[in-house]
Amino acid sequence: MAAPALLSTMMDAPLTLDAILARAGTLFGSIEVVSRLADRSLVRHTYGDVARRARSLAAGLQRAGLKEGDRVATLMWNHHAHLETYFGVPMAGGVYHTLNLRLPAEELEYIVKHANDRFLVVDDCLLPLLGKIPGVFAKNGGPVERVFVVSLTDAPVTEHETYESLLEGGEAGFAPPSPDERRAAGLCYTSGTTGKPKGVLYSHRSLVLHCMASAMVDTLAIRQSDVMLPVVPMFHVNAWGLPFTAAMVGAKLVLPGPHLDPAGLLDLYASERVTFSAGVPTIWLGILQALEREPARWSLTPGLRMVVGGSAAPESLIRGLDAFGLRVVHAWGMTETSPLGTVSFLKSTLDGSDLDATYKVRAKQGIPVPFVEIRAAGEAGPVAHDGVAMGELEVRGPWVAASYFANEEGADRWTADGWFRTGDVVTIDQQGYVAIADRTKDLIKSGGEWISSVALENTLMAHPAVREACVVAIPDEKWGERPAAVVAWKEGQKATAAELSAHLAPHFAKWALPDVFVERDAIPRNSTGKFLKSQLRDELRDPATRRAIA
Ligand code: AMP
Repeated sequence: MAAPALLSTMMDAPLTLDAILARAGTLFGSIEVVSRLADRSLVRHTYGDVARRARSLAAGLQRAGLKEGDRVATLMWNHHAHLETYFGVPMAGGVYHTLNLRLPAEELEYIVKHANDRFLVVDDCLLPLLGKIPGVFAKNGGPVERVFVVSLTDAPVTEHETYESLLEGGEAGFAPPSPDERRAAGLCYTSGTTGKPKGVLYSHRSLVLHCMASAMVDTLAIRQSDVMLPVVPMFHVNAWGLPFTAAMVGAKLVLPGPHLDPAGLLDLYASERVTFSAGVPTIWLGILQALEREPARWSLTPGLRMVVGGSAAPESLIRGLDAFGLRVVHAWGMTETSPLGTVSFLKSTLDGSDLDATYKVRAKQGIPVPFVEIRAAGEAGPVAHDGVAMGELEVRGPWVAASYFANEEGADRWTADGWFRTGDVVTIDQQGYVAIADRTKDLIKSGGEWISSVALENTLMAHPAVREACVVAIPDEKWGERPAAVVAWKEGQKATAAELSAHLAPHFAKWALPDVFVERDAIPRNSTGKFLKSQLRDELRDPATRRAIA
C-alpha cells in the first residue's frame, strides 16, 4: 500500500471572489469604474464605491431572503451595477446568472425557468424585453419572485422595485456564507450545443484561477496601469472574466453600456485613454472600417491591445489594425472553458521569422494557457502535432466544465477519461499552436476530402472588396458537398466570381475552391456574433434563392 501523502504546512486559504473585491476596494479604492448610460452620458464610480455597493447588495439580497445557492438573474448591459452583481451576489452566497439579451424570448424564458432564478436584476431600458417573458414571474407560475430595476435612463420606475432600494439598508445584518471555494458563483447558458441551451456553473475557485491566468504577461498581460474597456458583453461568459481581472490588478474599467457602435466606442477609447479592449471580430471589423473612413478623427493610445475571440480573427483584420498602431491578440475559448483556453503570442523560438510568418502565427488561435491541457482526437486516436492533421479539440483544466448544470442531455460532450469535447476541428503544429479549421458540424466534406471553411473565409476577407465572408457546404450529387461562399461587400466595392476565385487560387487546392459565390447585404449572425451557418446552409440549398455573383 502506498504511504499516505505528506501534507504541507501551508495555509489552505480559499480562492474566493470576495478577496478580489476587498483588494480592489482597499488598494485601488480611488481607481475609476466609468459607465456610459443610455443617453451616452458618463457616470464615474471608484473600486471603493463598487466594493461598498457590492457589500450592500449582498446584505440587501440576504435581507430579501436569498439562501445559499439561489440564482439571481441579470438582464443588463456592461456597467457598474452589473459589476456589483458579479461580486455582490456570490458574496451573499448566491449565484449570478447572466442572461443573453440577444436571445429570442422563448429561449430566455426556458433558461430562466431551467435555472430557477429567484431574483432578477434588469436595466430599465430592457424592461420591454422582460415584458415578453411574463411566464417567468412567480405570479404566473414561474420562479422569479422579485425584480430590481437599474436606472440607465431618466424614466421613473413604475413597475417592480428599484435596484437602489435593495442597497439602501447598507451592510446591516450581512452574514458571510460558507467559505468554500468550490461553491458555485456564476452561471451562464450556452446555445452552442444541440438541443436546448445548457448551463455552465462556475465556482469561486475556477473564476479566481482563470482570472490569475488571464492577467499573465504571456496571456492577456493585464496590469494595474491598464485602462480596460470590455466590449464583450457581461452577459456572455462573464465578459471573458475581464471585470474580475481588472479588479484584481486594479486597472481602470470603462464599461460602454448599451451603445456599441464603432464611432461611439472609438470616442470612449480616445477620451478615457483606453489601453486594452476585448470583443468579437465583428466589432473590430467595424472599428477598422471607421478608422479607414476617418483616419485622423480619433487619437488613440499607441499600442492599444484588442483581444479578439469568439470567432476566427482573419489575418487581414490583424494587419489592418496593426496599420493604425493597434495590436490584436487572438484568443480562443468557450462558455464551457470560462472562456480562456488558448492565446496566440509569439514564442521566442519564432524570433527571426519573417513578417508574413508571424502574421500566420498570430492568426492561429494560439497555445494553451497554463493549466489548460489540450489534445486533438482523430478517427484513430490523437492526431500528430504537425499543423496538418485535423482532429476534434479536447480540453481539460481547472476552469473547464465537468458537466452541464442540472442536465444529463449533454453528457456525451465529455470523453470516458474526462476531457471536454469542444466540437472544434483543429490542427496543432509542432510548436503547439492550435488553428481552428471549423466546428465539427460546419466542416465541408467534398469527395471524401475535408475543406476548412474558416481558411477560405479568412482568405476571402483579405480581398479588398470584401467586408465579410462566410463559407458553407451545399449538397452536390457527385461530390456529396461543395463549398459555397457568401460575401458582403465593402461600401461602394464589388468583384466578380472569377476575381474572387483567382484571389483564392494561390492558397488552396483547385478542388477546395468554392463552386458558387453569393452576395448578401450582411452575413446573418447569432446572439454572440458568430456566423449563422445553419441558416445560410438552408437558404443556399435551393439554387433559385442564391443571388449568385456573375
Ligand atoms: P461560446 O461558447 O458561445 O463562447 O462559443 C465557443 C465557440 O466559439 C468555440 O467552440 C469556437 O467554435 C468559437 N470560437 C471562439 N473563439 C474562437 C477563435 N478565436 N477562432 C475561431 N473560433 C472561435
